[in-house]
Amino acid sequence: MTYRLSGACHCGTIGLELALPRPPEEEVVGACQCSFCRKHNARTVSDPRASARLVVHDPAELQRYRFGLSASEVVLCRRCGVYVAMLMREGDKAWTTINIDALDERARFTGLAEPRDFSGEALEGRRERRKARWTPTELVGWPEEGG
Ligand SMILES: [Zn+2]
Repeated sequence: MTYRLSGACHCGTIGLELALPRPPEEEVVGACQCSFCRKHNARTVSDPRASARLVVHDPAELQRYRFGLSASEVVLCRRCGVYVAMLMREGDKAWTTINIDALDERARFTGLAEPRDFSGEALEGRRERRKARWTPTELVGWPEEGG
Protein backbone atom coordinates (compact mmCIF):
# COMPACT_ATOMS: atom_id res chain seq x y z
CA MET A 1 0.00 0.00 0.00
CA THR A 2 1.31 3.41 -0.96
CA TYR A 3 0.06 6.61 0.61
CA ARG A 4 0.18 9.45 -1.87
CA LEU A 5 0.30 12.99 -0.59
CA SER A 6 0.67 16.24 -2.40
CA GLY A 7 1.58 19.74 -1.47
CA ALA A 8 3.14 22.95 -2.68
CA CYS A 9 4.52 26.23 -1.51
CA HIS A 10 1.82 28.85 -0.86
CA CYS A 11 1.71 30.31 -4.38
CA GLY A 12 2.06 26.95 -6.17
CA THR A 13 5.38 27.63 -7.90
CA ILE A 14 6.99 24.61 -6.23
CA GLY A 15 4.83 21.49 -6.28
CA LEU A 16 5.42 18.45 -4.14
CA GLU A 17 4.39 14.80 -4.31
CA LEU A 18 5.23 12.23 -1.69
CA ALA A 19 4.51 8.48 -1.83
CA LEU A 20 4.84 6.94 1.63
CA PRO A 21 5.07 3.21 2.44
CA ARG A 22 2.92 3.68 5.56
CA PRO A 23 0.17 6.06 6.65
CA PRO A 24 1.30 9.56 7.66
CA GLU A 25 0.04 8.84 11.18
CA GLU A 26 2.76 6.17 11.50
CA GLU A 27 5.63 8.18 10.06
CA VAL A 28 8.31 9.51 12.36
CA VAL A 29 8.15 13.28 12.53
CA GLY A 30 11.51 14.98 12.78
CA ALA A 31 12.19 18.23 14.54
CA CYS A 32 15.57 19.10 13.11
CA GLN A 33 17.61 21.20 15.53
CA CYS A 34 19.82 22.83 12.92
CA SER A 35 19.92 26.60 13.13
CA PHE A 36 17.74 27.03 10.03
CA CYS A 37 14.97 24.61 11.08
CA ARG A 38 14.84 26.01 14.59
CA LYS A 39 14.02 29.44 13.17
CA HIS A 40 11.16 27.91 11.17
CA ASN A 41 10.12 25.55 13.97
CA ALA A 42 10.01 23.03 11.11
CA ARG A 43 8.62 19.51 11.36
CA THR A 44 9.99 17.27 8.66
CA VAL A 45 9.44 13.80 7.27
CA SER A 46 11.88 11.53 5.46
CA ASP A 47 11.63 7.83 4.73
CA PRO A 48 14.12 5.94 2.55
CA ARG A 49 11.32 3.63 1.38
CA ALA A 50 9.24 6.59 0.21
CA SER A 51 9.65 8.48 -3.03
CA ALA A 52 9.15 12.15 -3.74
CA ARG A 53 8.91 14.56 -6.66
CA LEU A 54 9.66 18.25 -6.51
CA VAL A 55 8.25 20.16 -9.47
CA VAL A 56 9.40 23.70 -10.15
CA HIS A 57 6.98 25.57 -12.42
CA ASP A 58 9.11 28.71 -12.64
CA PRO A 59 12.85 28.18 -12.06
CA ALA A 60 13.36 31.93 -11.65
CA GLU A 61 11.32 31.75 -8.43
CA LEU A 62 13.33 28.90 -6.93
CA GLN A 63 15.45 30.02 -4.01
CA ARG A 64 18.20 27.74 -2.76
CA TYR A 65 20.03 28.50 0.46
CA ARG A 66 23.15 26.83 1.80
CA PHE A 67 24.81 27.20 5.18
CA GLY A 68 27.20 25.36 7.48
CA LEU A 69 28.92 22.46 5.70
CA SER A 70 26.81 23.03 2.56
CA ALA A 71 26.16 19.30 2.28
CA SER A 72 22.59 20.14 1.38
CA GLU A 73 20.49 23.08 0.33
CA VAL A 74 17.27 24.53 1.61
CA VAL A 75 14.54 24.78 -1.04
CA LEU A 76 12.39 27.88 -0.70
CA CYS A 77 9.96 29.75 -2.92
CA ARG A 78 11.22 33.23 -3.77
CA ARG A 79 7.70 34.48 -4.48
CA CYS A 80 5.81 33.36 -1.36
CA GLY A 81 8.65 32.53 1.02
CA VAL A 82 7.59 29.00 1.96
CA TYR A 83 10.25 26.54 3.07
CA VAL A 84 9.52 23.33 1.12
CA ALA A 85 12.35 20.88 1.70
CA MET A 86 15.99 20.21 2.47
CA LEU A 87 17.72 18.72 -0.56
CA MET A 88 20.94 16.80 -1.07
CA ARG A 89 22.22 15.99 -4.56
CA GLU A 90 24.94 13.68 -5.79
CA GLY A 91 25.40 13.27 -9.51
CA ASP A 92 21.93 12.76 -10.96
CA LYS A 93 20.51 11.50 -7.67
CA ALA A 94 18.68 13.55 -5.08
CA TRP A 95 17.28 13.01 -1.59
CA THR A 96 15.02 15.23 0.48
CA THR A 97 13.53 15.68 3.86
CA ILE A 98 10.25 17.45 3.44
CA ASN A 99 8.65 20.20 5.47
CA ILE A 100 5.41 18.56 6.65
CA ASP A 101 3.60 21.88 6.72
CA ALA A 102 4.02 22.23 2.95
CA LEU A 103 1.85 19.12 2.49
CA ASP A 104 -1.93 19.37 2.12
CA GLU A 105 -2.45 16.58 4.66
CA ARG A 106 -0.10 18.02 7.28
CA ALA A 107 -2.66 17.29 10.02
CA ARG A 108 -2.27 13.53 9.49
CA PHE A 109 1.30 13.61 10.80
CA THR A 110 0.34 13.09 14.41
CA GLY A 111 3.60 11.51 15.60
CA LEU A 112 5.37 13.43 18.33
CA ALA A 113 8.23 15.40 16.79
CA GLU A 114 11.62 13.95 17.71
CA PRO A 115 14.36 16.52 18.23
CA ARG A 116 17.41 15.71 16.09
CA ASP A 117 20.75 17.38 16.50
CA PHE A 118 23.42 16.42 14.01
CA SER A 119 25.57 19.51 14.41
CA GLY A 120 28.60 17.54 15.65
CA GLU A 121 28.66 15.30 12.61
CA ALA A 122 31.46 15.36 10.02
CA LEU A 123 30.63 16.02 6.37
CA GLU A 124 31.12 12.47 5.04
CA GLY A 125 29.08 10.87 7.82
CA ARG A 126 26.35 13.40 7.15
CA ARG A 127 26.09 12.60 3.45
CA GLU A 128 25.99 8.86 4.15
CA ARG A 129 23.33 9.23 6.84
CA ARG A 130 21.14 11.30 4.55
CA LYS A 131 21.41 8.78 1.73
CA ALA A 132 20.31 6.09 4.17
CA ARG A 133 17.46 8.03 5.76
CA TRP A 134 16.21 10.70 3.40
CA THR A 135 13.67 10.16 0.65
CA PRO A 136 14.88 9.49 -2.91
CA THR A 137 13.53 12.39 -4.94
CA GLU A 138 12.95 13.21 -8.58
CA LEU A 139 13.55 16.84 -9.51
CA VAL A 140 11.35 18.19 -12.29
CA GLY A 141 11.89 21.57 -13.98
CA TRP A 142 15.01 22.09 -11.92
CA PRO A 143 17.66 24.52 -13.10
CA GLU A 144 21.16 23.13 -13.72
CA GLU A 145 23.66 23.25 -10.86
CA GLY A 146 24.72 26.81 -10.33
CA GLY A 147 21.65 28.05 -12.20
ZN1 LIG B 1 5.53 29.98 -3.64
